[in-house]
Amino acid sequence: MNKGMRSVLIAALAAVAGVASAQQQDYSKVEIKVTKVSGSVYMLEGAGGNIAASVGEDGIAIVDDQFAPLADKIRAALKGLTDKPLRFIINTHYHFDHTGGNLPLHDATIVAHDNVRKRLATSNVIGNGGAMKMDQPANPKEALPVVTFQHDVTLHVNGEEIRALHAPNGHTDGDSIVFFPKSNVVHFGDCFVRYGFPFIDINGGGSSKGMIAGLESAIAQLPAGVKVIPGHGALATVDDVRSFVTMLKETRGAVEQAVKAGKTLDQLKQEKVLAPWQKFSGQFITTDLFIETLYNELTGTKTAGLVKHN
Ligand SMILES: [Zn+2]
Repeated sequence: MNKGMRSVLIAALAAVAGVASAQQQDYSKVEIKVTKVSGSVYMLEGAGGNIAASVGEDGIAIVDDQFAPLADKIRAALKGLTDKPLRFIINTHYHFDHTGGNLPLHDATIVAHDNVRKRLATSNVIGNGGAMKMDQPANPKEALPVVTFQHDVTLHVNGEEIRALHAPNGHTDGDSIVFFPKSNVVHFGDCFVRYGFPFIDINGGGSSKGMIAGLESAIAQLPAGVKVIPGHGALATVDDVRSFVTMLKETRGAVEQAVKAGKTLDQLKQEKVLAPWQKFSGQFITTDLFIETLYNELTGTKTAGLVKHN
C-alpha cells in the first residue's frame, strides 16, 4: 500500500467529513447534529455519511452509521428522539464512513444489497481506478448485514414503507437509494453528494454511467416536494439532484469524446477538458481526479491486485 496515496485519500475523506485530517481526526470532538427533515424522518450529521432516522412507535430504523467511535454519540442522539430501540440499519453501500457503526450497533438488524455484505466480508482497495486508492480491511461477521437483497427490500416500520432500491454500478456496485414515502424523504447515499465532483469507486464496481441511470430512475419516481438527504452535505431538493445529473452527463460526455478521439489521460488534464465545470472542483475530488475517474471508467482501467467478487 502506498502510504502517500492512503494519507491523501484519508485526508480527503476527512475533509469531506469536516475535519482537518485523519491524524488529527478526534472523534471525541465530533458532535452529532440532529435535524427534523419531514414526517417521522430525521437527519443526523457528525463525521462521515449523513444518517437518516425513521423514529416512531415501532422503534428506530437508520440509514448508514458513520464511524465506529461515534456509535455511543449516535445512540445518545437517537435516545433524545425516543426511548424505543434501534431496530434496523440500512447500509447504502460498503464504504467505512457509512458502515463503521455496524459492529458496535449490530444488536439492530443490518440490511443491505448483496454486494455490500460481500465487500464488507473481504478486504477491498477503494479507488478511482488510478491515483486515488485505499485499503478497507475485512469486517468481522458481527458487522455484516444479516438481511441482503438483489433488487429492493421494504421495511414496514413506523407506518412507513421504507424501501431500499438498488442502483446498479453507481458510486459502487452495491448502492441503495432509500425512500420514505409517507414522510416524503429520500436518502441517496453517495450516488448524490454535495462536495463537488463525486467520488466514484471504480475499483468497487462504480461508474458515472450507473450513477446517472440510478439517479434518473429515482428522480422519475419521486413526488413533488420530496426532501433529499445526500450522502454528504446539506439537505437538498430534487432540483439539486437534477443539476448534479446534468453535470455528470456533460462531464462524462466531454471525456468520452476526447477518449474516442484517442487522447491520453495526460492530454485530457493538460487540455483542461473539464474547465467549464471548474466550480465543481472540490477539496476531495479535484478536476484532475475526476478526469482520471471518468477516463478510467471509459477505458476500463482499474487498480491492479483487486480482490475478486462474485
Ligand atoms: Zn462512499
